[in-house]
Amino acid sequence: MLSKFLPRVRKPARYCGGEYGSVVKARSSVELRVAFCFPDVYEVGMSHLGMKILYSLYNSLPYVWCERCFAPWPDMEELMRENNIPLFGLESRDSIRDFDCVAFTIQYELCYTNILNMLDLAGLPVKSKDRDNSCPLVIAGGPCTCNPEPIADFIDLFVIGEGEEVSVELMELMKQGKQEDITKSELLRRASELEGVYVPSMYTVLYNDDGTVKSVTPSGDAKNIITKRIITDFDNVYYPDSFVVPSTEVIHDRVMVEVQRGCIRGCRFCQAGHTYRPIREKKAATLARQAKTLAENTGYEEISLTSLSTSDYKQLKELVDELIDWCRERHISIALPSQRADNFSMELMQRLQAVRRTGLTFAPEAGTQRLRDVINKNITEQDLLNACAIAFRAGYNSVKLYFMIGLPTETDEDLEGIATLAQKVLYTWRESSVKKTRGVTITIGTASFVPKPGTPFQWCAQDSLEELKRKQSFLVSKMKIKNVTFNYHDAEVSHLEGVMARGDRKISDVIELAWRKGVRFDAWDEHFRPSFWRECFAEANLDMNFYACREREKDEVFPWEHIYNGVTREHLRKEYDRAMEGIVSPDCRTECSMCGAMELLGGGMCDA
Ligand code: SF4
Repeated sequence: MLSKFLPRVRKPARYCGGEYGSVVKARSSVELRVAFCFPDVYEVGMSHLGMKILYSLYNSLPYVWCERCFAPWPDMEELMRENNIPLFGLESRDSIRDFDCVAFTIQYELCYTNILNMLDLAGLPVKSKDRDNSCPLVIAGGPCTCNPEPIADFIDLFVIGEGEEVSVELMELMKQGKQEDITKSELLRRASELEGVYVPSMYTVLYNDDGTVKSVTPSGDAKNIITKRIITDFDNVYYPDSFVVPSTEVIHDRVMVEVQRGCIRGCRFCQAGHTYRPIREKKAATLARQAKTLAENTGYEEISLTSLSTSDYKQLKELVDELIDWCRERHISIALPSQRADNFSMELMQRLQAVRRTGLTFAPEAGTQRLRDVINKNITEQDLLNACAIAFRAGYNSVKLYFMIGLPTETDEDLEGIATLAQKVLYTWRESSVKKTRGVTITIGTASFVPKPGTPFQWCAQDSLEELKRKQSFLVSKMKIKNVTFNYHDAEVSHLEGVMARGDRKISDVIELAWRKGVRFDAWDEHFRPSFWRECFAEANLDMNFYACREREKDEVFPWEHIYNGVTREHLRKEYDRAMEGIVSPDCRTECSMCGAMELLGGGMCDA
């Protein structure tokens, strides 16, 4: 049935399945069927490491068959609706409506309408309360569960934190429940007892007259606070020995090994840097073994040493030593996705570039030292210029620099500082480059700051849409510099992201409204409809600025107050106060600032 439609859609390989490494099991041989859903297109989902790990983990359980499922692009959605083709698992093409569990990984706020669209295409009611015992259990995990409230009405249970261990516990529970033929509400009650599991239907939210949250109260035996799950023995955590190799081009198409979780730096805007704490590293020997096995089993020609700040990984030199000759013999390149200017090593880069040269990227984030101290970036202008000089002397003739605008306490002088820094990088090239003949390309990219839950800036107001746009045109006027390319993100997108990031359950109705009006793929420029969202918020009588552009009171109850992401509120507030005074805090390797995350290690120490 499906194959006759594939020639009529863009990139039909998105819907074919059958890729090398995909797992097919006999339906009769398993007790549970799981649809692992990524609420965006195939090329994005297939690049995501978390999905690769959990897909393989689920399928390592003999009684589980896990299949992949991605959001169909609008052309395919139209055909599916016209021809009553329900959303299907890529491996079997069976409707996921008939599965036991539909599991979403939620990586960013702008995919929320895609979740509803996938549920609806599967023939499932979008609201959790409208799904009866005949429906699969709908679960979700990923970074957006730091504040799951905007989508609480659509999901039966959330996994807060890291999924490797709790996913197995959930499967065991579901297997037992199926054998006992228990109801969904009983299954949810049992699941709510697991550490890191949040069942929103077991919590009641009350609001103050001004619209802020008054309380979030558990019913029955539900926990007052849901503490995120972490993997304490990170070096021995489950890791796949093979990946599904896509049969069409995807965004990140390579071997990935996760060298560490968490980050020692404590940049105050960074959600991942706080919510993935405590710091845990894998041993170089473990990583080298995993990388070689994956490269042999997939045929990939690139190995990416991934983490939030790989240049901070303590055994980086040992790991590269273990891999470099093995890779060189097989023409496999090694990539370091994240490098900091303050510990940039040209010696390391040159060793890695011997196989294949990749671009150079640094993220100073702010244009002046004052503002870099406010956000606790702990990088000086000299660090950046030194790193660029080293790179230019080594023959590099392009560098990307990432900044943010709209940061707390930011002034136009700070914005001007971005242009000044770009100019200084150009001078540095002129002074230090050995290959001037080819000219230099300096790319300045600016994102708009979005205050996120679980960070010291969770109290901050986001700049208004008008102010963000004013700052962008101000910067455009300052960025007329030879060899410098300047680009910035759509302020409307950042504004909506700001609303969803700190939203409450009232927003669920707005998300449903927007979806019913046809809103999908908000993360894609060609599909983003900001006017639709404004309409929907107006219809729901809710103010987007209340969520995005309002400074929170010190003691305000956050919509996610019942979710503990591992770093204490006291620590976050202390860091907020230090930011407002422009005081930096040491990184974890220099001094532990007692953020609370170490408690989750049950007496173990952070690998700072
Ligand atoms: S407990 Fe200390 S060392 Fe560990 S993540 Fe927190 S601040 Fe860093």
